[in-house]
Amino acid sequence: MENRRVRVRFAPSPTGPLHMGGVRTALYNYLFAKKHGGDFLLRIEDTDQTRFVPGAEDYVVDALKWCGMTIDEGASVGGDNGPYRQSERKPMYRKYAEMLLESGHAYYAFDTPEELTEMRERLKAAGMAAPQYNAVTRSGMKNSLTLSAEEVEKRLAADDKYIVRVKMPRNEEVKFQDIIRGWVSVNTNNLDDKVLFKSDGMPTYHLANVVDDYLMNISHVIRGEEWLPSAPLHVLLYRFFGWADVMPQFAHLPLILRPDGNGKLSKRDGDRLGFPVFPTNWKNPETGEQSSGYRERGYYPGAFNNMLAFLGWNPGTTQELFNMEELIQTFSLERVGKAGAKFDFDKTNWFNQQYLRMHNGDDLAAQLKPYLEAENLEAEQEYIAQVCDLMKERATFVQDILKEGRYFFEAPTSYDEKTIKKKWKEQTPAIITELSVLLKELPSFDAESIGACFKSFLEAKELGFGAVMPGFRVSVTGLGAGASMNDIAALLGKEEVLRRIEVALNTIKK
Ligand code: GLU
Repeated sequence: MENRRVRVRFAPSPTGPLHMGGVRTALYNYLFAKKHGGDFLLRIEDTDQTRFVPGAEDYVVDALKWCGMTIDEGASVGGDNGPYRQSERKPMYRKYAEMLLESGHAYYAFDTPEELTEMRERLKAAGMAAPQYNAVTRSGMKNSLTLSAEEVEKRLAADDKYIVRVKMPRNEEVKFQDIIRGWVSVNTNNLDDKVLFKSDGMPTYHLANVVDDYLMNISHVIRGEEWLPSAPLHVLLYRFFGWADVMPQFAHLPLILRPDGNGKLSKRDGDRLGFPVFPTNWKNPETGEQSSGYRERGYYPGAFNNMLAFLGWNPGTTQELFNMEELIQTFSLERVGKAGAKFDFDKTNWFNQQYLRMHNGDDLAAQLKPYLEAENLEAEQEYIAQVCDLMKERATFVQDILKEGRYFFEAPTSYDEKTIKKKWKEQTPAIITELSVLLKELPSFDAESIGACFKSFLEAKELGFGAVMPGFRVSVTGLGAGASMNDIAALLGKEEVLRRIEVALNTIKK
Protein backbone atom coordinates (compact mmCIF):
# COMPACT_ATOMS: atom_id res chain seq x y z
CA MET A 1 0.00 0.00 0.00
CA GLU A 2 2.87 2.39 -0.76
CA ASN A 3 1.74 5.65 -2.30
CA ARG A 4 -1.83 5.20 -1.21
CA ARG A 5 -3.68 8.49 -1.30
CA VAL A 6 -4.29 9.76 2.21
CA ARG A 7 -8.03 9.83 2.88
CA VAL A 8 -9.26 10.31 6.40
CA ARG A 9 -12.70 10.83 7.82
CA PHE A 10 -14.20 12.52 10.80
CA ALA A 11 -17.19 10.34 11.65
CA PRO A 12 -19.27 11.84 14.45
CA SER A 13 -22.57 10.42 15.61
CA PRO A 14 -25.15 13.22 15.76
CA THR A 15 -25.99 12.60 19.39
CA GLY A 16 -25.28 16.12 20.62
CA PRO A 17 -22.86 19.00 20.21
CA LEU A 18 -19.24 18.38 19.43
CA HIS A 19 -17.14 18.16 22.57
CA MET A 20 -13.56 19.48 22.63
CA GLY A 21 -12.35 15.88 22.32
CA GLY A 22 -14.37 15.49 19.13
CA VAL A 23 -13.05 18.71 17.66
CA ARG A 24 -9.51 17.60 18.42
CA THR A 25 -10.13 14.32 16.59
CA ALA A 26 -11.40 16.34 13.62
CA LEU A 27 -8.39 18.65 13.82
CA TYR A 28 -5.82 15.84 13.87
CA ASN A 29 -7.58 14.20 10.94
CA TYR A 30 -7.62 17.49 9.07
CA LEU A 31 -3.96 18.32 9.79
CA PHE A 32 -2.86 14.84 8.80
CA ALA A 33 -4.86 14.94 5.55
CA LYS A 34 -3.58 18.36 4.56
CA LYS A 35 0.01 17.58 5.49
CA HIS A 36 -0.07 14.64 3.09
CA GLY A 37 -2.01 16.39 0.36
CA GLY A 38 -4.98 14.11 1.03
CA ASP A 39 -8.72 14.33 1.63
CA PHE A 40 -10.66 15.13 4.77
CA LEU A 41 -14.13 13.57 4.80
CA LEU A 42 -17.12 14.16 7.04
CA ARG A 43 -19.31 11.12 7.56
CA ILE A 44 -22.35 11.19 9.78
CA GLU A 45 -22.74 7.95 11.72
CA ASP A 46 -26.41 7.96 12.54
CA THR A 47 -27.29 4.27 12.55
CA ASP A 48 -28.52 4.50 16.12
CA GLN A 49 -31.68 6.50 15.55
CA THR A 50 -32.63 6.33 19.21
CA ARG A 51 -29.71 8.62 20.05
CA PHE A 52 -30.31 11.10 17.22
CA VAL A 53 -30.43 14.73 18.34
CA PRO A 54 -31.85 17.30 15.92
CA GLY A 55 -29.44 20.05 15.01
CA ALA A 56 -26.34 18.06 15.95
CA GLU A 57 -25.15 17.59 12.37
CA ASP A 58 -25.53 21.27 11.53
CA TYR A 59 -23.67 22.02 14.72
CA VAL A 60 -20.72 19.86 13.63
CA VAL A 61 -20.58 21.47 10.19
CA ASP A 62 -20.76 24.94 11.65
CA ALA A 63 -18.13 24.22 14.30
CA LEU A 64 -15.67 22.78 11.78
CA LYS A 65 -16.19 25.83 9.62
CA TRP A 66 -15.52 28.18 12.51
CA CYS A 67 -12.30 26.30 13.27
CA GLY A 68 -11.24 26.68 9.65
CA MET A 69 -11.31 23.01 8.69
CA THR A 70 -12.52 22.67 5.13
CA ILE A 71 -14.36 19.47 4.33
CA ASP A 72 -13.20 18.04 1.01
CA GLU A 73 -15.89 15.44 0.74
CA GLY A 74 -18.83 14.40 2.83
CA ALA A 75 -22.00 15.52 4.51
CA SER A 76 -22.80 19.16 3.70
CA VAL A 77 -20.49 19.27 0.65
CA GLY A 78 -21.13 16.01 -1.25
CA GLY A 79 -18.64 14.00 -3.29
CA ASP A 80 -18.21 10.84 -5.36
CA ASN A 81 -18.59 8.36 -2.53
CA GLY A 82 -21.87 9.48 -1.06
CA PRO A 83 -24.28 9.53 0.49
CA TYR A 84 -22.30 10.48 3.58
CA ARG A 85 -25.02 9.93 6.14
CA GLN A 86 -25.24 6.30 7.18
CA SER A 87 -29.01 6.44 7.51
CA GLU A 88 -29.11 7.31 3.80
CA ARG A 89 -26.75 4.45 2.99
CA LYS A 90 -29.02 1.94 4.72
CA PRO A 91 -29.81 -0.18 1.61
CA MET A 92 -26.09 -0.75 0.98
CA TYR A 93 -25.31 -2.68 4.14
CA ARG A 94 -27.52 -5.77 3.85
CA LYS A 95 -25.30 -7.19 1.15
CA TYR A 96 -22.29 -7.07 3.44
CA ALA A 97 -24.10 -8.70 6.34
CA GLU A 98 -25.10 -11.46 3.92
CA MET A 99 -21.51 -11.89 2.75
CA LEU A 100 -20.47 -12.63 6.31
CA LEU A 101 -23.42 -14.96 6.86
CA GLU A 102 -22.49 -16.90 3.74
CA SER A 103 -18.83 -17.19 4.62
CA GLY A 104 -19.76 -18.39 8.12
CA HIS A 105 -18.26 -15.39 9.91
CA ALA A 106 -21.65 -14.26 11.13
CA TYR A 107 -24.91 -15.89 12.17
CA TYR A 108 -28.55 -15.07 12.83
CA ALA A 109 -29.63 -14.78 16.45
CA PHE A 110 -33.31 -14.85 17.44
CA ASP A 111 -33.06 -14.48 21.20
CA THR A 112 -35.66 -12.25 22.80
CA PRO A 113 -34.61 -9.53 25.26
CA GLU A 114 -36.00 -11.73 28.04
CA GLU A 115 -33.88 -14.68 26.95
CA LEU A 116 -30.79 -12.49 26.87
CA THR A 117 -31.50 -11.19 30.34
CA GLU A 118 -32.10 -14.70 31.57
CA MET A 119 -28.72 -15.82 30.18
CA ARG A 120 -26.92 -12.94 31.85
CA GLU A 121 -28.62 -13.49 35.20
CA ARG A 122 -27.87 -17.19 35.09
CA LEU A 123 -24.18 -16.64 34.36
CA LYS A 124 -23.90 -13.91 36.95
CA ALA A 125 -25.37 -16.25 39.52
CA ALA A 126 -22.74 -18.78 38.47
CA GLY A 127 -20.03 -16.26 39.31
CA MET A 128 -19.29 -14.67 35.94
CA ALA A 129 -18.77 -10.93 36.44
CA ALA A 130 -19.63 -9.70 32.95
CA PRO A 131 -21.47 -12.37 30.98
CA GLN A 132 -21.36 -11.98 27.22
CA TYR A 133 -22.82 -13.50 24.10
CA ASN A 134 -19.67 -15.19 22.88
CA ALA A 135 -18.03 -18.34 21.60
CA VAL A 136 -18.94 -20.17 24.81
CA THR A 137 -22.44 -18.93 25.55
CA ARG A 138 -23.74 -18.83 21.97
CA SER A 139 -24.17 -22.61 21.98
CA GLY A 140 -26.91 -22.30 24.61
CA MET A 141 -28.85 -19.62 22.76
CA LYS A 142 -31.35 -19.43 19.90
CA ASN A 143 -29.33 -18.79 16.78
CA SER A 144 -28.57 -20.24 13.38
CA LEU A 145 -25.70 -22.19 14.91
CA THR A 146 -27.94 -24.05 17.35
CA LEU A 147 -31.28 -24.21 15.52
CA SER A 148 -31.89 -26.50 12.57
CA ALA A 149 -31.63 -25.05 9.06
CA GLU A 150 -35.39 -25.56 8.60
CA GLU A 151 -36.19 -23.74 11.81
CA VAL A 152 -33.99 -20.81 10.76
CA GLU A 153 -35.63 -20.72 7.32
CA LYS A 154 -39.04 -20.81 8.90
CA ARG A 155 -38.28 -17.94 11.25
CA LEU A 156 -36.80 -15.81 8.49
CA ALA A 157 -39.76 -16.52 6.20
CA ALA A 158 -42.14 -15.57 9.02
CA ASP A 159 -40.31 -12.25 9.41
CA ASP A 160 -39.27 -13.07 12.94
CA LYS A 161 -37.08 -10.46 14.53
CA TYR A 162 -33.40 -11.30 14.32
CA ILE A 163 -30.00 -9.80 14.59
CA VAL A 164 -26.81 -10.78 12.84
CA ARG A 165 -23.88 -11.39 15.14
CA VAL A 166 -20.23 -11.81 14.27
CA LYS A 167 -18.95 -15.29 14.97
CA MET A 168 -15.88 -14.48 16.97
CA PRO A 169 -13.22 -17.14 16.44
CA ARG A 170 -11.98 -18.97 19.49
CA ASN A 171 -8.57 -18.37 20.97
CA GLU A 172 -6.96 -16.38 18.20
CA GLU A 173 -4.53 -13.49 18.63
CA VAL A 174 -5.66 -10.44 16.70
CA LYS A 175 -2.65 -8.20 16.16
CA PHE A 176 -2.45 -4.84 14.49
CA GLN A 177 -0.13 -1.89 14.56
CA ASP A 178 -1.47 1.37 15.90
CA ILE A 179 0.53 4.41 14.80
CA ILE A 180 0.36 5.89 18.29
CA ARG A 181 0.36 2.77 20.46
CA GLY A 182 2.56 0.37 18.51
CA TRP A 183 1.55 -3.28 18.37
CA VAL A 184 -1.81 -4.05 19.89
CA SER A 185 -2.66 -7.68 20.50
CA VAL A 186 -5.92 -9.09 21.79
CA ASN A 187 -7.05 -12.67 22.21
CA THR A 188 -10.45 -13.30 20.68
CA ASN A 189 -11.51 -15.15 23.82
CA ASN A 190 -11.83 -11.69 25.34
CA LEU A 191 -14.15 -10.48 22.59
CA ASP A 192 -17.86 -11.05 22.24
CA ASP A 193 -20.14 -11.75 19.29
CA LYS A 194 -21.02 -8.14 18.56
CA VAL A 195 -24.23 -7.32 16.76
CA LEU A 196 -23.58 -6.25 13.15
CA PHE A 197 -27.02 -5.94 11.62
CA LYS A 198 -30.67 -5.91 12.64
CA SER A 199 -33.78 -7.26 10.96
CA ASP A 200 -35.04 -3.71 10.39
CA GLY A 201 -32.22 -3.45 7.85
CA MET A 202 -30.07 -1.15 9.93
CA PRO A 203 -26.42 -2.00 10.47
CA THR A 204 -24.76 -1.28 13.79
CA TYR A 205 -21.82 1.06 14.14
CA HIS A 206 -19.24 -1.72 13.69
CA LEU A 207 -20.50 -3.00 10.36
CA ALA A 208 -21.34 0.40 8.91
CA ASN A 209 -18.05 1.89 10.02
CA VAL A 210 -15.91 -0.82 8.42
CA VAL A 211 -17.98 -1.07 5.24
CA ASP A 212 -17.95 2.70 4.78
CA ASP A 213 -14.25 3.06 5.45
CA TYR A 214 -13.72 0.43 2.78
CA LEU A 215 -16.14 1.92 0.26
CA MET A 216 -14.81 5.42 0.87
CA ASN A 217 -11.24 4.19 0.48
CA ILE A 218 -10.13 5.50 3.84
CA SER A 219 -6.38 5.14 4.36
CA HIS A 220 -6.10 6.09 8.05
CA VAL A 221 -8.56 5.85 10.90
CA ILE A 222 -7.70 8.52 13.46
CA ARG A 223 -10.12 8.46 16.38
CA GLY A 224 -10.45 8.61 20.14
CA GLU A 225 -9.02 6.05 22.52
CA GLU A 226 -12.53 4.90 23.47
CA TRP A 227 -12.65 3.07 20.13
CA LEU A 228 -9.49 1.06 20.74
CA PRO A 229 -11.44 -1.90 22.22
CA SER A 230 -13.50 -2.06 19.00
CA ALA A 231 -10.45 -2.08 16.74
CA PRO A 232 -9.72 -5.86 16.95
CA LEU A 233 -13.27 -6.57 15.76
CA HIS A 234 -12.79 -4.11 12.92
CA VAL A 235 -9.48 -5.73 11.97
CA LEU A 236 -11.22 -9.13 11.90
CA LEU A 237 -14.05 -7.77 9.77
CA TYR A 238 -11.51 -6.53 7.19
CA ARG A 239 -10.08 -10.03 7.12
CA PHE A 240 -13.48 -11.73 6.88
CA PHE A 241 -14.46 -9.51 3.97
CA GLY A 242 -11.14 -10.18 2.24
CA TRP A 243 -10.13 -6.54 2.45
CA ALA A 244 -7.05 -6.94 4.65
CA ASP A 245 -4.77 -5.44 2.01
CA VAL A 246 -6.72 -2.17 1.97
CA MET A 247 -7.32 -2.00 5.71
CA PRO A 248 -6.71 1.54 6.95
CA GLN A 249 -3.93 2.21 9.43
CA PHE A 250 -5.19 2.95 12.91
CA ALA A 251 -4.25 5.76 15.26
CA HIS A 252 -6.09 5.95 18.58
CA LEU A 253 -5.74 9.35 20.22
CA PRO A 254 -5.17 9.85 23.95
CA LEU A 255 -7.93 11.12 26.21
CA ILE A 256 -8.34 14.76 27.13
CA LEU A 257 -8.23 14.88 30.92
CA ARG A 258 -9.67 17.23 33.51
CA PRO A 259 -7.34 19.99 34.69
CA ASP A 260 -6.48 17.96 37.81
CA GLY A 261 -5.74 14.92 35.68
CA ASN A 262 -8.43 12.85 37.40
CA GLY A 263 -10.43 11.35 34.61
CA LYS A 264 -11.83 12.36 31.28
CA LEU A 265 -12.81 15.98 30.74
CA SER A 266 -16.59 16.36 30.77
CA LYS A 267 -19.18 19.06 30.36
CA ARG A 268 -19.72 18.89 34.09
CA ASP A 269 -16.08 19.90 34.72
CA GLY A 270 -16.55 22.84 32.40
CA ASP A 271 -19.72 23.93 34.20
CA ARG A 272 -18.07 23.55 37.59
CA LEU A 273 -14.81 25.30 36.73
CA GLY A 274 -16.29 27.91 34.40
CA PHE A 275 -14.94 27.03 30.99
CA PRO A 276 -16.65 25.94 27.78
CA VAL A 277 -16.17 22.42 26.45
CA PHE A 278 -17.89 23.12 23.14
CA PRO A 279 -16.47 25.12 20.22
CA THR A 280 -19.63 27.19 19.76
CA ASN A 281 -22.83 27.80 21.71
CA TRP A 282 -25.23 24.89 21.90
CA LYS A 283 -28.87 24.89 22.80
CA ASN A 284 -30.22 21.52 23.86
CA PRO A 285 -33.33 21.09 21.70
CA GLU A 286 -35.11 19.07 24.37
CA THR A 287 -34.37 20.96 27.56
CA GLY A 288 -33.61 24.35 26.03
CA GLU A 289 -30.46 24.44 28.15
CA GLN A 290 -27.76 26.73 26.76
CA SER A 291 -24.11 25.77 26.84
CA SER A 292 -21.51 28.34 26.02
CA GLY A 293 -18.88 27.91 23.35
CA TYR A 294 -15.44 29.29 22.68
CA ARG A 295 -16.59 31.31 19.68
CA GLU A 296 -19.19 33.31 21.57
CA ARG A 297 -16.88 33.84 24.51
CA GLY A 298 -14.60 35.73 22.14
CA TYR A 299 -11.83 33.23 21.46
CA TYR A 300 -10.07 33.31 18.13
CA PRO A 301 -10.44 30.10 16.14
CA GLY A 302 -6.68 30.12 15.61
CA ALA A 303 -6.04 30.24 19.35
CA PHE A 304 -8.60 27.48 19.94
CA ASN A 305 -7.01 25.23 17.30
CA ASN A 306 -3.53 25.97 18.57
CA MET A 307 -4.56 25.03 22.11
CA LEU A 308 -6.35 21.88 20.92
CA ALA A 309 -3.41 20.78 18.78
CA PHE A 310 -1.23 20.77 21.88
CA LEU A 311 -3.64 18.52 23.79
CA GLY A 312 -1.88 15.30 22.92
CA TRP A 313 0.68 16.47 20.38
CA ASN A 314 3.85 18.55 20.60
CA PRO A 315 6.20 19.72 17.89
CA GLY A 316 9.34 18.60 19.73
CA THR A 317 10.60 22.19 19.91
CA THR A 318 9.84 25.08 22.24
CA GLN A 319 7.65 26.85 19.67
CA GLU A 320 4.12 27.19 20.95
CA LEU A 321 2.37 29.47 18.50
CA PHE A 322 1.32 27.82 15.28
CA ASN A 323 -1.25 29.06 12.82
CA MET A 324 -3.20 26.47 10.83
CA GLU A 325 -0.68 26.45 7.98
CA GLU A 326 2.20 25.92 10.41
CA LEU A 327 0.28 23.19 12.23
CA ILE A 328 -0.26 21.42 8.91
CA GLN A 329 3.45 21.61 8.10
CA THR A 330 4.59 20.48 11.54
CA PHE A 331 1.96 17.93 12.61
CA SER A 332 2.74 14.25 12.70
CA LEU A 333 0.95 11.32 14.31
CA GLU A 334 4.32 10.03 15.50
CA ARG A 335 4.50 12.99 17.86
CA VAL A 336 1.08 12.27 19.41
CA GLY A 337 1.52 10.73 22.86
CA LYS A 338 -0.24 7.77 24.42
CA ALA A 339 -0.81 9.43 27.80
CA GLY A 340 -3.91 11.49 28.51
CA ALA A 341 -3.50 15.23 27.96
CA LYS A 342 -4.54 17.56 30.77
CA PHE A 343 -6.71 20.46 29.72
CA ASP A 344 -5.43 23.78 31.03
CA PHE A 345 -7.87 26.67 30.85
CA ASP A 346 -5.27 29.30 31.81
CA LYS A 347 -3.15 28.13 28.94
CA THR A 348 -6.16 28.45 26.64
CA ASN A 349 -6.49 32.08 27.69
CA TRP A 350 -2.77 32.58 27.22
CA PHE A 351 -3.10 31.37 23.64
CA ASN A 352 -5.91 33.82 23.03
CA GLN A 353 -3.87 36.64 24.48
CA GLN A 354 -0.99 35.83 22.16
CA TYR A 355 -3.33 35.77 19.16
CA LEU A 356 -4.89 39.06 20.17
CA ARG A 357 -1.47 40.70 20.31
CA MET A 358 -0.71 39.60 16.78
CA HIS A 359 -3.50 41.84 15.47
CA ASN A 360 -2.78 45.47 14.72
CA GLY A 361 -4.85 48.33 16.09
CA ASP A 362 -6.98 48.60 12.97
CA ASP A 363 -7.98 44.94 13.05
CA LEU A 364 -8.76 45.13 16.73
CA ALA A 365 -10.78 48.28 16.21
CA ALA A 366 -12.96 46.45 13.70
CA GLN A 367 -13.38 43.59 16.17
CA LEU A 368 -14.22 45.97 19.00
CA LYS A 369 -16.74 47.97 17.01
CA PRO A 370 -19.74 45.67 17.64
CA TYR A 371 -19.11 45.78 21.38
CA LEU A 372 -19.01 49.57 21.30
CA GLU A 373 -22.15 49.74 19.22
CA ALA A 374 -23.94 47.41 21.59
CA GLU A 375 -23.38 50.02 24.29
CA ASN A 376 -24.05 53.03 22.10
CA LEU A 377 -20.48 54.20 22.34
CA GLU A 378 -19.01 56.00 19.38
CA ALA A 379 -15.57 57.02 18.26
CA GLU A 380 -13.49 57.52 15.13
CA GLN A 381 -11.94 54.36 13.70
CA GLU A 382 -8.44 55.82 14.02
CA TYR A 383 -8.99 56.70 17.65
CA ILE A 384 -10.34 53.21 18.45
CA ALA A 385 -7.31 51.72 16.72
CA GLN A 386 -4.98 53.80 18.88
CA VAL A 387 -6.85 52.75 22.01
CA CYS A 388 -6.54 49.11 20.94
CA ASP A 389 -2.83 49.45 20.28
CA LEU A 390 -2.34 50.92 23.72
CA MET A 391 -4.53 48.41 25.55
CA LYS A 392 -3.90 45.15 23.73
CA GLU A 393 -1.04 44.02 25.96
CA ARG A 394 -3.46 43.95 28.87
CA ALA A 395 -6.30 42.08 27.16
CA THR A 396 -7.15 38.42 26.72
CA PHE A 397 -10.25 39.16 24.63
CA VAL A 398 -10.93 42.12 22.42
CA GLN A 399 -13.89 43.05 24.61
CA ASP A 400 -11.47 43.41 27.56
CA ILE A 401 -10.26 46.58 25.85
CA LEU A 402 -13.67 48.10 26.41
CA LYS A 403 -14.05 46.60 29.86
CA GLU A 404 -10.72 47.99 31.03
CA GLY A 405 -10.68 51.11 28.93
CA ARG A 406 -14.24 52.33 29.00
CA TYR A 407 -12.95 55.75 30.01
CA PHE A 408 -11.58 56.16 26.48
CA PHE A 409 -15.14 56.28 25.22
CA GLU A 410 -16.95 58.07 28.00
CA ALA A 411 -15.93 60.23 30.95
CA PRO A 412 -15.97 58.47 34.31
CA THR A 413 -19.19 58.75 36.25
CA SER A 414 -17.74 57.33 39.44
CA TYR A 415 -14.32 57.20 41.03
CA ASP A 416 -12.60 54.14 42.44
CA GLU A 417 -13.43 54.20 46.13
CA LYS A 418 -10.30 52.49 47.34
CA THR A 419 -8.08 54.96 45.55
CA ILE A 420 -10.05 57.90 46.89
CA LYS A 421 -9.90 56.55 50.41
CA LYS A 422 -6.18 55.87 50.34
CA LYS A 423 -4.77 58.47 47.97
CA TRP A 424 -7.10 61.46 47.81
CA LYS A 425 -5.61 63.62 50.54
CA GLU A 426 -6.56 67.07 51.72
CA GLN A 427 -3.92 68.68 49.54
CA THR A 428 -4.73 66.58 46.45
CA PRO A 429 -7.22 69.01 44.88
CA ALA A 430 -4.66 71.81 45.06
CA ILE A 431 -1.92 69.62 43.61
CA ILE A 432 -4.10 68.39 40.76
CA THR A 433 -5.25 71.94 40.04
CA GLU A 434 -1.64 73.11 39.77
CA LEU A 435 -0.75 70.17 37.53
CA SER A 436 -3.67 70.94 35.27
CA VAL A 437 -2.48 74.52 34.84
CA LEU A 438 0.87 73.24 33.60
CA LEU A 439 -0.77 70.69 31.31
CA LYS A 440 -2.94 73.43 29.87
CA GLU A 441 0.12 75.40 28.88
CA LEU A 442 1.79 72.54 27.05
CA PRO A 443 2.26 73.49 23.41
CA SER A 444 2.19 69.86 22.31
CA PHE A 445 0.01 67.36 24.17
CA ASP A 446 1.88 64.17 23.27
CA ALA A 447 2.80 61.41 25.73
CA GLU A 448 6.43 62.47 25.95
CA SER A 449 5.66 66.13 26.72
CA ILE A 450 3.04 65.11 29.27
CA GLY A 451 5.58 62.80 30.95
CA ALA A 452 8.25 65.51 31.02
CA CYS A 453 5.78 68.05 32.39
CA PHE A 454 4.68 65.64 35.10
CA LYS A 455 8.27 64.89 36.08
CA SER A 456 9.37 68.48 36.33
CA PHE A 457 6.24 69.26 38.36
CA LEU A 458 7.19 66.56 40.90
CA GLU A 459 10.73 67.90 41.08
CA ALA A 460 9.74 71.54 41.44
CA LYS A 461 7.21 70.70 44.17
CA GLU A 462 9.40 68.06 45.77
CA LEU A 463 6.51 65.65 45.62
CA GLY A 464 6.62 61.91 45.31
CA PHE A 465 4.99 60.05 42.44
CA GLY A 466 2.40 58.60 44.82
CA ALA A 467 1.24 62.03 45.91
CA VAL A 468 0.22 63.05 42.40
CA MET A 469 -0.27 60.16 40.02
CA PRO A 470 -3.18 58.33 41.71
CA GLY A 471 -5.15 61.56 41.98
CA PHE A 472 -4.41 62.43 38.38
CA ARG A 473 -5.34 58.96 37.18
CA VAL A 474 -8.54 58.62 39.16
CA SER A 475 -9.69 62.07 38.02
CA VAL A 476 -9.22 61.28 34.35
CA THR A 477 -10.11 57.57 34.22
CA GLY A 478 -12.06 56.93 37.41
CA LEU A 479 -9.73 54.01 38.11
CA GLY A 480 -6.86 53.24 40.43
CA ALA A 481 -4.64 51.49 37.90
CA GLY A 482 -4.21 51.02 34.19
CA ALA A 483 -2.01 51.82 31.22
CA SER A 484 0.51 54.67 31.26
CA MET A 485 -1.22 57.95 32.12
CA ASN A 486 0.98 59.82 29.65
CA ASP A 487 -0.41 57.66 26.83
CA ILE A 488 -3.96 57.83 28.13
CA ALA A 489 -3.92 61.60 28.48
CA ALA A 490 -2.31 62.09 25.08
CA LEU A 491 -4.99 59.96 23.45
CA LEU A 492 -7.87 61.67 25.22
CA GLY A 493 -6.48 65.09 24.26
CA LYS A 494 -5.86 68.21 26.29
CA GLU A 495 -9.38 69.56 26.36
CA GLU A 496 -10.94 66.32 27.52
CA VAL A 497 -8.29 65.77 30.21
CA LEU A 498 -8.74 69.26 31.61
CA ARG A 499 -12.50 68.95 31.52
CA ARG A 500 -12.38 65.63 33.37
CA ILE A 501 -10.05 67.06 36.02
CA GLU A 502 -12.45 69.91 36.57
CA VAL A 503 -15.43 67.58 36.94
CA ALA A 504 -13.47 65.34 39.32
CA LEU A 505 -12.41 68.23 41.51
CA ASN A 506 -16.04 69.27 41.78
CA THR A 507 -17.33 65.77 42.37
CA ILE A 508 -14.86 63.97 44.62
CA LYS A 509 -15.68 64.85 48.19
CA LYS A 510 -14.13 63.21 51.18
N1 GLU B 1 -19.24 7.37 15.17
C1 GLU B 1 -18.07 7.19 15.98
C2 GLU B 1 -18.00 8.36 16.96
O1 GLU B 1 -19.00 8.92 17.22
C3 GLU B 1 -16.86 7.13 15.11
C4 GLU B 1 -15.73 6.33 15.61
C5 GLU B 1 -14.73 6.11 14.52
O2 GLU B 1 -14.12 7.12 14.11
O3 GLU B 1 -14.58 5.02 14.05
O4 GLU B 1 -17.01 8.74 17.49
